[in-house]
Amino acid sequence: KAKGEGRNTFRIYDSSLHAMSTERLRLEVNLRRALERGEFTIYYQPRIGLTGGTIAAMEALVRWQHPESGLVSPAEFIPLAEEIGLIVPLGEWILETACRQNKRWQDDGMDPFRISVNISAVQFHRDEFVKVVQRALQEASLEPQWLELELTESIVMNNAAKTIMKLRELKEAGVHISIDDFGTGFSSLSYLKYFPIDTLKIDRSFLQDVPDSPKDIAIIKTIIALARRLHLNVVAEGVESREQFLFLAARKCSEGQGYFFSRPMPASEAEQWIRDSSAEWCSKFYIP
Ligand code: C2E
Ligand code: MG
Ligand code: MG
Ligand code: MG
Repeated sequence: KAKGEGRNTFRIYDSSLHAMSTERLRLEVNLRRALERGEFTIYYQPRIGLTGGTIAAMEALVRWQHPESGLVSPAEFIPLAEEIGLIVPLGEWILETACRQNKRWQDDGMDPFRISVNISAVQFHRDEFVKVVQRALQEASLEPQWLELELTESIVMNNAAKTIMKLRELKEAGVHISIDDFGTGFSSLSYLKYFPIDTLKIDRSFLQDVPDSPKDIAIIKTIIALARRLHLNVVAEGVESREQFLFLAARKCSEGQGYFFSRPMPASEAEQWIRDSSAEWCSKFYIP
C-alpha cells in the first residue's frame, strides 16, 4: 500500500513538473516574440526633490503588454529574459526608448529632468555596454547629463577592476550612476570609496515600517548621513504615506519616490502628471 501511494505521489509530482516546464517553455517562446511584436512598453515614475519640490528624475520601468494576460510586471519576466539572453536587445530597446522619450519631453518645453534606466547585470558586464549607452544617447540626441543608470550593488561588486573602468568611462561620457536597492546587496561598503557613484537609492524595505520601526529609522538616518558625508545624492524608494514623506524631508533626504507621489504611468499620463503638478509641489505636499 505504501508503495502504491509512493508511486501515486510520484506521478502527481512528475505531471506538475511537466506542466511547469511546458508553461515555462511557452513563456519563453512568447517572451522571445514579444520584442519583435512590440509588446513591451515603458512606464515612468517620478522622483521628487524633497527640498525644492521639483521633479528630479523619471524612472523608466518596463512592462510587458501580453495579448492574453494583460500587463505583466518585470519581476515576472526580467529574470527569464536574463537567462535566455533577451535582456540584451530588450535592454537596448529600453535605453533607446527612454532616452528618446526624455528628449521629446525636453523638446516639448518641459523643465529638463533626468531619465533613469535600470540596468541588468547581464547587460552591464558585456564588453560593448558603454558603446550601447552612447549610441542610445546619440540616436535620441539626448545630452548625457540627462541619463542616469541604476545599477545594483551586486553589479558593482563583481569583477571590480573591469567594473571600475566601465563606470569611469560612463562618468567621463557624462552619464549619472546610481545604486538601486541600496542596503540589500550583501556587499562591502568599500566600493563607495573607489567607484564614481552619484546617487544611493535606499531600498524600499527600510522605509516600509517607518515611522513605527526604530531600527529602520536608525538605518535610514544612517544612510542619509553616509550619503551626505560622501557628497552623494540620496533617494528614498517606496514613499507611500505623508508621514514617511515628512520624516524624509525633516531628515534632509534629497529625493523621494513612491506611490505617495505617483505610481508608474504610461508616457502620455506621465506627461499630463508633470504638467499638472509642476511648480505646485510645495503647496501640495509641504506643511510649512
Ligand atoms: P526597482 O528598480 O527597485 O523599481 C522600483 C519598484 O518598486 C517598481 O516596481 C515600482 O513600481 C515599485 N514601487 C515604486 N514606488 C512604490 C511604492 O511606494 N510602494 C511599493 N510597494 N512599490 C513601489 P516594478 O516596476 O514592478 O519593477 C520591479 C523591478 O524590476 C525594478 O525594481 C527593477 O529591478 C526591475 N526592472 C523594472 N524595469 C526594468 C528595466 O527596464 N530593466 C531592468 N533590467 N530591470 C527592470
Ligand atoms: Mg530602479
Ligand atoms: Mg529599487
Ligand atoms: Mg530592484
